Amino acid sequence: MTLPSFDLAGRVALVTGANTGLGQGIALALAEAGADIAAAGRSAPEETRARVEALGRRFAFVEAALDTIAPVAGVVEATVAQLGGLDILVNNAGTIRRNDALDFTEEDWDAVMGVNLKTLFFLSQAAGRHWAEAGRGGKIVNIASMLSFQGGIRVASYTASKSGVLGLTRLLANEWAGKGISVNAIAPGYFATSNTEALRRDADRNRAILERIPAGRWGVPADLAGAAVFLSSAASDYVHGAVVPVDGGWLAR
Ligand code: NAP
Repeated sequence: MTLPSFDLAGRVALVTGANTGLGQGIALALAEAGADIAAAGRSAPEETRARVEALGRRFAFVEAALDTIAPVAGVVEATVAQLGGLDILVNNAGTIRRNDALDFTEEDWDAVMGVNLKTLFFLSQAAGRHWAEAGRGGKIVNIASMLSFQGGIRVASYTASKSGVLGLTRLLANEWAGKGISVNAIAPGYFATSNTEALRRDADRNRAILERIPAGRWGVPADLAGAAVFLSSAASDYVHGAVVPVDGGWLAR
């Protein structure tokens, strides 16, 4: 038996970067729980579309390069126009650049901070404005990282951005919990996606990471399903400003 409060039937979820990796896994989980999906990003999410539609849900692609905030208001408008509303925003799109701190460039700083932090904030603002104007609440799920808690190495802008994601999750929760808008985060551990390809190709780093994960394996996108559905549903209505690590036990070490 499924608890009714986890049911997302009739809800519309906007997921950024849903063409691949964790965003695709989250979109599929929300669709399985009943939601229609708007996928915002720069790459056509045809595989995600096929899999969401196979579950019997509606799907819309909102094309948007999210390295600047120019498209954010239009993304919310297009979602509402195509799917009739907006209930859930998952800020998943993100990127990473690796270099020693001594050599880190402004370009690698701006590229990561733009999509990972600035766009996340202004897209949340656009969704928050939409809900405030409609006099109703909503759900925001931000994708944080282990580097919201830890320093990492050779990823200065990524660590800065993901530490910022956790701070913004708490700030927005403080401002919006009273309006019925839940803002929370998921902190994935080490997942096998294109984001971590370089780490997995490096035999020494790969072994060191695996040895430190109590579960003994890299995560796969479906591992995020439960946390994503929980934070998107009425089951989490009294959860605000929280971060759920889904990390195979990494933070417990
Ligand atoms: P991924 O497979 O590389 O997916 C990243 C997604 O973000 C893609 O859909 C990508 O679109 C989109 N994106 C990046 N820059 C964009 C831009 N400027 N405009 C529009 N879309 C953009 O990596 P992933 O691991 O699934 O990452 C998803 C999120 O999880 C990121 O926020 C990442 O930091 C976070 N995360 C990942 C891990 C992990 O271990 N993999 C751990 C913690 C957190 P394109 O396909 O068009 O590039």
